[in-house]
Parts: sequence; C-alpha cells; structure tokens
Amino acid sequence: NHLFDLIRTHLPPEPAQKTLLETPDGPRFSYADMIARSGAYASALVALGVKPGDRVAAQVEKSPEVVFLFLGSVRAGAVFLPLNTAYTDREISYFLGDAEPTVFVCDPTRKASLDTVAGEAGVASVLTLGGDGRGTARDAADAAATDFADVARGSDDLAAILYTSGTTGRSKGAMLTHDNLGSNAVTLARTWRFGPEDVLIHALPVFHTHGLFVATNTVIMAGASMLWLPRLDAKQILSVMPRATAMMGVPTFYTRLLKEPGLTREATAHIRLFVSGSAPLLAETHREWSARTGHAILERYGMTETNMSTSNPYEGERIAGTVGFPLPDVALRVVDPETGARLPVGDVGMIEVKGPNVFKGYWRMPEKTMAEFKADGFFITGDLGKIDPQGYVHIVGRGKDLIITGGYNVYPKEIETEIDGLPGVVESAVIGLPHADFGEGVTAVVVAGPEARDEAAILTALEGRLARFKQPKRILFADDLPRNAMGKVQKNLLRETHAGLYR
Ligand code: ATP
Ligand code: MG
Repeated sequence: NHLFDLIRTHLPPEPAQKTLLETPDGPRFSYADMIARSGAYASALVALGVKPGDRVAAQVEKSPEVVFLFLGSVRAGAVFLPLNTAYTDREISYFLGDAEPTVFVCDPTRKASLDTVAGEAGVASVLTLGGDGRGTARDAADAAATDFADVARGSDDLAAILYTSGTTGRSKGAMLTHDNLGSNAVTLARTWRFGPEDVLIHALPVFHTHGLFVATNTVIMAGASMLWLPRLDAKQILSVMPRATAMMGVPTFYTRLLKEPGLTREATAHIRLFVSGSAPLLAETHREWSARTGHAILERYGMTETNMSTSNPYEGERIAGTVGFPLPDVALRVVDPETGARLPVGDVGMIEVKGPNVFKGYWRMPEKTMAEFKADGFFITGDLGKIDPQGYVHIVGRGKDLIITGGYNVYPKEIETEIDGLPGVVESAVIGLPHADFGEGVTAVVVAGPEARDEAAILTALEGRLARFKQPKRILFADDLPRNAMGKVQKNLLRETHAGLYR
C-alpha cells in the first residue's frame, strides 16, 4: 500500500509515546492509536464489502475519527471522498450519483433524509459519524479488529477523489493517487522544516485539500503533533498558541486574529511558522501581521487538482503578494493562453504545472481531462500569473475571471490592487457585468470605512493610475465580500446580485 507504507517509514521512533493529535479538552491519540484505529476502520470497511478501488464517501463534521476513517479507507484499498458539510441533500444526491460510493458516512442528524438520497444513488451502506466522534461508523470500527493487513495499492492507484470548491462552476472530482498525496506531503514537510518537535494548530475543515492533505499529511510525514480544533475561533487559537509551533490557515484566519487585541509579539513567540493559502492573502494583511507579531506569513499556492505547487521560502525573503517559488519537484511555466508559447519574465499568462503532485484527471470527465492537459503533460491550472525577475510567482487572478470590455482584456487583480491602496479602503472585488455597449462593464465592489465611501472620489483617484478602459464604470459599496469556508471571494454571487446594473 504505497501511501500507508510511506507513512510507516516516516513513523516517529516510539509511536505509542508520540502524540499525533489532541483536542483541547478531549482525547489524545498517539501514532500507535492512529495505526490501530485506522486498522479498525479498514477492517470494518472490508466487512461491509468495500473492495479495492471502491469509493468511501463522507460528509461529516470535524472530529479525530475523520483522520482514522480516511487512513482506514486508504489501507482498505478504497478511494476516500470527503464532501463539504455545507452541501444540501440535493447537492449530495449529485455527488453520490457521480461517484457511486459503496459506503457513505453522514451526520447522525441527517441520516433519515440522506438514507433516501443514498438509496437512489445505489449506495450499499450508510453509516453515521457526528462531530462528537460517535455514530454507527465509529461503533463498527470499535467492534472490528485493529490488526489489518493493508490492501496492496500502487503509487498510481487512487487514494482519494476530492471535489473542487465550485468557485468558478460546478465542482469537479479530482482523482488523486497515492503518489500525488504522498510525494506532496513529504516535500512540504521538508520544505517547511516540519519535525517531531512541531505542534500544528489545526482549525481548518477536513473536507478540503488544505485541512485534510496539506496540514494532516504533512504533520504525519514529519512525526509531528496537531492541536485539533473544531473550527476557526480566534480566541481559542490564541489560547493554544503558547503550546504550538506552527499554524496553517486561510487568509480569514489572519484577518480574524488581527482583530484580537491579544494578538501580540508575546502571544506568538512560541510559533516558528505561519502558513497561508487557498485564497489570496492581501499584502496589507501580511504587513500588518509582521508589524504586530514579528512573523512573516509564508504564503503558498495550490489547488485540489495539483496539491501544493509553489511556496515562499522557509529561509529567504517571503514577499507579500507573491506565492513564492515552484516546489522542488514541480515544473511551472507561464504561457500565452492563445498560442501556448512560453512568456518572458514579467508577462501575465496562464500558469501550467507538471510534477508528481498533479492529479490523474477528472473523475468520469475524460474530455475535460483531455482539454486541461497539454501533450507534454503540463496541467492548465486556469490561474493567471507571472514570474518576476527574482523567480517569485505572482497569481494575478483566474482565467475565468478575466473581464473583456470593448474588446480589451482587463485583469481584475490589477484594478483591485489600485483600489485597495486608496486610504480608507479595506478590500475590493472587481467584476465584469453585462453591458450593452462594452459586452462587460468593469465594476468594483468596495469595502471601505464611512469616510471612504465616495464613488466619485474613488473614480477620480483611479483616473491617473489606470488606462481609461480599465477604469471601473461604477463603484458599489458593501459591508463585506461574500466568502466561502475556505476564504474564497464568491464573485459569482456578486455577478448575480448586480447583473442588472447596466441594463
Ligand atoms: P473550482 O475549481 O471548482 O472553480 P476552486 O478552484 O476555488 O473551485 P480549489 O481547488 O479549492 O477550488 O482552489 C484552488 C484555487 O484557489 C486555485 O486555482 C487559485 O485560484 C486559488 N488559490 C489557492 N491558493 C492561492 C493563493 N495563495 N493565492 C491566490 N489564489 C490561490
Ligand atoms: Mg479550480
């Protein structure tokens, strides 16, 4: 079993003594517990008829059991398929129909309605697991043998299918192999210098690549420990900081913590590394954080399909507004989206990546998979960016986010950066809205203090800074930008809300 063998070779010297995971007021699990409990889940899954390659889907609240269920699925030779806890029954119906899992684990409170949904999708067994770590899945594991002979699986076999966040359209199932997950975790542990002495604050959800793979697998490959918190709670994070050495979060973690007066140099003195990703970290947040705490946040970039691709350096300058350098085994290039030609340093184009981190393809979408891979194996990320003369990668936005107005291409990020730099502005989102003359009208939604909520003043300020065609036609104000659980701005919602602005 490629992935679990890799985990075994990275075990700390005394697995029974070393803590893998502890909750603030609940149980503590050692590495020996991890092996026993994942073995029990594997035994229980096989008893339910799970065969190599079968999918095990789970829509469950965060608890330590989720880690053991994931590892148990891997050891049983199955493909783990975590689902966002926010998905409704209707959405779950689509995912179960698409992935056809053998087993589906859901929250006890939703069992009644999801039983019907799972039945329609032909799922053989529905089990439960609550945020308190109890349910019929846990009961089955408790009754099963902890000794389990891992099912053989090669490096190219699937370990997980993870659906993308659905920021730009319907979520796609990314097929991730044992080697995709294993190689990236080993690389990240090395790149970020994780070792047995580390204690990571884990307050991320575990249905997304960030919390499940980046954070958890990196810790496991380093023989390190985690403080397992149910969700982002800035006060709780501050209270455990003196016992931790690292934290991984989405940008919202950092903006929330900055609102806490308790966030000081002293409060963060025990931490050696703060990592941010999943959405762009404002350069402003990076600067405020280092002024308040003395720590430079390390920003990295990745996606469900590619795991992590770039990282700011551990040693060396972490530059605000950049995502750093390609990871050691990752090849990254910026090309002209039209011709595919490689672009010179500094030019904005499509980011493409290749390496052991890159997924095998979209689940049951062979045509989409074909369209997103180049003949030489590079994956077209859909993100626009550039590489600066020092080699740092900058993400400029998403390809689908490009605004075409009067025939000109406009990159929202360029305009957002100008607006965000104006006094009193907190942040902004620039979108294209249907416009009779221009096709799309450049529009800015701005979060600002009362003194800066002045459309005419902002438009005037932008006049000298941006070419005429890039200047927003309208500035709208909002109290905050709509974001999902991973801190991603939901521009699709803004486009829907304001669709009629120029009509
Ligand atoms: P979908 O593919 O379904 O539209 P999604 O792309 O948001 O959703 P994810 O795979 O969760 O789903 O997110 C990956 C994307 O997140 C990247 O393609 C990139 O646009 C963005 N991203 C991740 N890290 C960063 C970062 N540090 N800076 C800027 N953008 C980032
Ligand atoms: Mg995507």
